[in-house]
Amino acid sequence: MVHNRREFLLSSASFAVGAGLLQERVFGQPQKKTRLILLGTKGGPRVGESGRSNPSTLILINEVPYLVDCGYGATKQLLLAGVAVNRVRYIFITHHHSDHNLEYGPLFYNAWSVGQPIKIDGYGPPGLKKMADDFFSYQKFDIETRIVDEGRTDPRPLLASHEFDKPGVILENDDVKVSSCRVRHPPIEQAYAYRFDAPDRSIVISGDTAYSPELAQFAKGADVLVHEVMYLPAIDALVRRLPEAKRLREHLLASHTLPADVGKIATQAGVKTLVLSHFVPGDDRSITDEQWAADVRKGFKGQIIVGRDLLEI
Ligand SMILES: [Zn+2]
Ligand SMILES: [Zn+2]
Repeated sequence: MVHNRREFLLSSASFAVGAGLLQERVFGQPQKKTRLILLGTKGGPRVGESGRSNPSTLILINEVPYLVDCGYGATKQLLLAGVAVNRVRYIFITHHHSDHNLEYGPLFYNAWSVGQPIKIDGYGPPGLKKMADDFFSYQKFDIETRIVDEGRTDPRPLLASHEFDKPGVILENDDVKVSSCRVRHPPIEQAYAYRFDAPDRSIVISGDTAYSPELAQFAKGADVLVHEVMYLPAIDALVRRLPEAKRLREHLLASHTLPADVGKIATQAGVKTLVLSHFVPGDDRSITDEQWAADVRKGFKGQIIVGRDLLEI
């Protein structure tokens, strides 16, 4: 319930595009050094007119963009968030479902096509290097034509793909420590969550996961947990319409997290703010924010934010 004008402004600002910027303008608060912007919040590879783009999450630390996952549309969403694609310095892939990696090569290519020097370090489970190599052979003709015809630098050495197959520290620099935790996303074994510890803020991105107690441990004390979520009544409605979706229901139940369990994880982790993202289904506009949050709230008493594309937290 909105009690006064300040609360009204706060609640509307928290759902506005670029809310951080708006809050700064409205309340004169300094902008955070570590910013979190949801670029795409729809789970799954289907591209539709849902108002949600495929998964991608942006963390800006001292203005340096760190991208977690780059599903289809990530380049466009970055631009909409006001970040030039050739500024991206790091990409982290949680797992190799295509809604999380489809633009790994293309986003790098788009950064290269701007024509200024770039270097991107990509991190992810095994398969990342081959994906980059395969992308470069897919675009071999174009790349080699432009090198000769337009005097472009060869992009291929500028993308460094680093693979890991165990949880641990992935990257450490003056601004941030990034670590990973194995999560449960069968049948994929190499599926990870990422944690960013910056001096002013710690943020955990769950990736795709079923209920994973080890994720709660990993997210202990973080300021923000961005967690995936699945709304079962909508899946059941789908199965009623399409009985052949029964198998899909089993897969979804085994590999994603129901709202009540998302709340449990956030409570076990003791995070301040829980952000729901990677909505399954992400293209059913009839599900309200309240429906997404209701069961989460039963298990978690902190701040719950129902994510939207381009929302800054
Ligand atoms: Zn996914
Ligand atoms: Zn997945």
